[in-house]
Amino acid sequence: MLIFIRPDATAGDRAELRHALAAEGARGPLGTLPLGAGDVLGVDGSSLTAAARDRLAALPAVARVVKVRTPYKLASRAASEQPSVVRVGEVTLGGGGVPPVIAGPCSVENEDQIIESAQAARAAGACMLRGGAFKPRTSPYTFQGLGIAGLRLLARAREVTGLPIVTEVMEPNLVDVVAEYADMLQIGARNMQNYALLVAAGHSGKPILLKRGPSSTIEEWLLAAEYILATGNPHVVLCERGIRSFDPATRNVLDVTAVPLLRSLTHLPIVVDPSHGTGRRDLVVPMALAATAAGADAIIVEMHPQPDAALSDAAQTIDPATLHELIAGVRAVHIALHSTSATTVAPIASAS
Ligand code: PEP
Ligand code: MN
Repeated sequence: MLIFIRPDATAGDRAELRHALAAEGARGPLGTLPLGAGDVLGVDGSSLTAAARDRLAALPAVARVVKVRTPYKLASRAASEQPSVVRVGEVTLGGGGVPPVIAGPCSVENEDQIIESAQAARAAGACMLRGGAFKPRTSPYTFQGLGIAGLRLLARAREVTGLPIVTEVMEPNLVDVVAEYADMLQIGARNMQNYALLVAAGHSGKPILLKRGPSSTIEEWLLAAEYILATGNPHVVLCERGIRSFDPATRNVLDVTAVPLLRSLTHLPIVVDPSHGTGRRDLVVPMALAATAAGADAIIVEMHPQPDAALSDAAQTIDPATLHELIAGVRAVHIALHSTSATTVAPIASAS
């Protein structure tokens, strides 16, 4: 159940609502989310009678009560008729338009590498820089990332290029330090159901890129988003990055179906990662175009000035020239499908 709170509700009205929810036995009232004109409160109202719902709806704090059948409430379409738009610096994720492209290496390796990557990303028309400082590696013997030193290098790359930064946070006790440097926090696929991390990241107030767990259902993914939303942080973006299948031909199977499906289930913006989604650099451009055609709000890819020398995920990492081609293709697909006039589409950012 969603309880839409009147914009003019006083603190007393809200306290009365909380008491009434407890008295009626509503389970686990979640946090309020600032969406639209007033706040929205997500509540599990499955145990409430129709009469109890009517009593709640009549309270002075309440604009309206909406029944939601899905276990996720704040993430559901019912919470917001308008698609949510998440802003990261001057970048807009969601709400239509040519999907912006986020690019950068899998890992921050050294100063020259990340600055060169950022400059190449910018020159190709990418809007944001990605790069892992804390790396969730399958093997403990592989490169684990530079940690806080890597965050400092990302901040330097932002200074040089002006591109905002998205980078992964792996532990609740590192949220503050990562949030100090990053413009957007990434919750990696392996941590999608790390609920303590979701809550800590939510409380940072930063925009959050929530990757889909490699074996997670759409519902589990939206419930993970719900944990962040329930902290009162509305800046959540979902990232499809491929799921496990029986077939080792590709690293994962990029679930393009998830894009239009999510569109019908949630107001949250949807980003697609064809790099982790395929594991093969020759498949990154075609799948970025497929994701654009399916309605993705943005694309995130791994790009490195010397892809074969990348310390992690080299096989799926494209070079700057391919990124240029990808961005032109994304734009062309979007215009072909959505624009009556190409002049309504903003030009690609020029090289610095
Ligand atoms: C990454 O973005 O480099 C990464 C580790 O992604 P994922 O969590 O999707 O595997
Ligand atoms: Mn990677």
